[in-house]
Amino acid sequence: MSLRHPVLFLSHGAPDILLKGGASVALWKQLGAALPRPRAILVISAHWAARMPLVSTAATPETIHDFGGFPPALYSMHYPAPGAPTLAARVADLLHSAGLPCEESPHRGLDHGAWIPLKAMFPDADIPVLQLALQPFAGPGWHFRIGQALRALREEGILILASGAITHNFAWLTWGEDSAPLPQARMFSDWTGATLARGDREILLDYRHQAPHGAAAHPSEEHLLPLFVALGAADPEETPLRLEPEFIQGGLAMDAYLWQDASPTPFHPEH
Ligand code: ZN
Repeated sequence: MSLRHPVLFLSHGAPDILLKGGASVALWKQLGAALPRPRAILVISAHWAARMPLVSTAATPETIHDFGGFPPALYSMHYPAPGAPTLAARVADLLHSAGLPCEESPHRGLDHGAWIPLKAMFPDADIPVLQLALQPFAGPGWHFRIGQALRALREEGILILASGAITHNFAWLTWGEDSAPLPQARMFSDWTGATLARGDREILLDYRHQAPHGAAAHPSEEHLLPLFVALGAADPEETPLRLEPEFIQGGLAMDAYLWQDASPTPFHPEH
C-alpha cells in the first residue's frame, strides 16, 4: 500500500472556541502533534463560498477576522503561515483534469474556519496553507467530485483539511450554559457516523432526504459540504476514525473524521 497522507474533517465551532478551550481544542492539539507533518495544508472551509472553485494563491495570506461581536483578544490573533502558490497551480490542474473549473484568487487570506483550528493544530504557523472555495448551492455530489479530483494530493504529502460542522442549526443551540446534547443533533451526528462507517456514499450524499433531521441539521448546506470534499478524497475502502469531542450549546456536534488507513502510525485519541 502506498503511503497516503490523512484527510481530516473537523467541526470548527464558534470563533471564540480558542479563547474558551475545551475538548475540541484539546483534540485539535492532539491531532496536530500526532499526524504526520504535511508539506502543505489545503483547507476547504465553510467560510469561503464562491460561484466556482477558487484557489488562493497569496504568498503571505492575511488572517481574516470574518466575524463580529467577539472579545478583542480574538481580533489580535493572527496566523502568519506562508501561502503555497505553486501548490495552488497544482490544485487548479487537478480540478481541470477532472473537468471541473478552477480559478486563482490572489488576494484571499485565511478565514476563521481555517486559521482557528490550524492555530491549535500547528501553532508555529510554519506549514504553507492555501484554501479552496466551496460552492454553497452546488450540493454534496459536486463537492464529492472536487474531493475525488484532489485525492492525488494525499500521495504528495498534502493534508486536506475540511472545516465545517456536523450540525449547524442556530435554532438548536442553547444559549448560556452548555446543556445535554439535543436529541436531534445526536441522531443526525450518529446517523452520519454510522453511514460513513458503512461506506454508504450514495446514502450520505442524499443526507437531506435519508438522514433523521437531515435538512434541519443544516438549514443551509455550507457547513456540511466540506465533509463531502473529504469523503471524495478518501479511498472507497477507507473507513474514517470518528472523533466526538463534545456537543457545544446542546445542538452543535463537534465531530471530526480522520481517514488514515495508510498511516504506519495511526492516530488514536487520548482521554
Ligand atoms: Zn463556521
